[in-house]
Amino acid sequence: MAPNLIMLGPPGAGKGTQAERFARGRGIPKISTGDILREAVHAGTEIGRRAKLIMDRGELVSDDVMIGIVRERLEQPDAIGGFVLDGFPRTVTQATALDAIMERRGPLIVLDIVVPEAELVRRLATRMICEDCGANAGRFAEAGASSQNPAGQADALRCSRCGGRLVQRADDNEAVVRERLRIYRQATQPLVDYYRTRPTFRSIDGAQPADRVAADLVAAIEAAGNGAGSHGGHRS
Ligand code: AMP
Repeated sequence: MAPNLIMLGPPGAGKGTQAERFARGRGIPKISTGDILREAVHAGTEIGRRAKLIMDRGELVSDDVMIGIVRERLEQPDAIGGFVLDGFPRTVTQATALDAIMERRGPLIVLDIVVPEAELVRRLATRMICEDCGANAGRFAEAGASSQNPAGQADALRCSRCGGRLVQRADDNEAVVRERLRIYRQATQPLVDYYRTRPTFRSIDGAQPADRVAADLVAAIEAAGNGAGSHGGHRS
């Protein structure tokens, strides 16, 4: 069975890119709470209007709203056989609620992607998303910035998925990035302690090239799945 996976790690650690890649390979949904909120902002819904003000400041949307969104999403039929959660949980309250939602649904595999802060700031400064569909095009922006891949510069202008214009995320400017990292350390880092003692917890070095991170991720998921089995956890 496909895993129920959550990705921890600071903004810019590569959670979204890796989550998307793994989810696509396994045919399970990638559920990104940041993407869900950006879609709500784009669509101009009530939740979107309220979330935009909070997101633009780099702060966290309330636990109640986020838990409601995720509970509803995880009940959809496509998520029953496994999923990759990206950007949730972000607080201990969210993690506790997720444990309750996941009761009788098999173990959560928890991956913590670790990247030094200086590298995060550099990545976030060059990250691009599609103005139209919201796809994260960070890797194109990085390719474009690399002198070894001049072709990447052309790719960096347009979204590979829909052809839309690539722009910087509103919350990727330096002041907001610093605030997001501060909030990460304060509210989200404690989650590592919350999960660390579980046999299904693994840390990954996210400062490596993306292909290497992807390979480590697959190996860690495999090992964590075995850990769940040998420690009497329920396999999904
Ligand atoms: P992300 O795309 O994961 O970096 O999320 C972008 C922004 O959406 C965050 O800075 C928060 O303002 C908001 N957000 C996303 N996920 C959550 C969450 N689980 N809890 C609270 N706020 C969130």
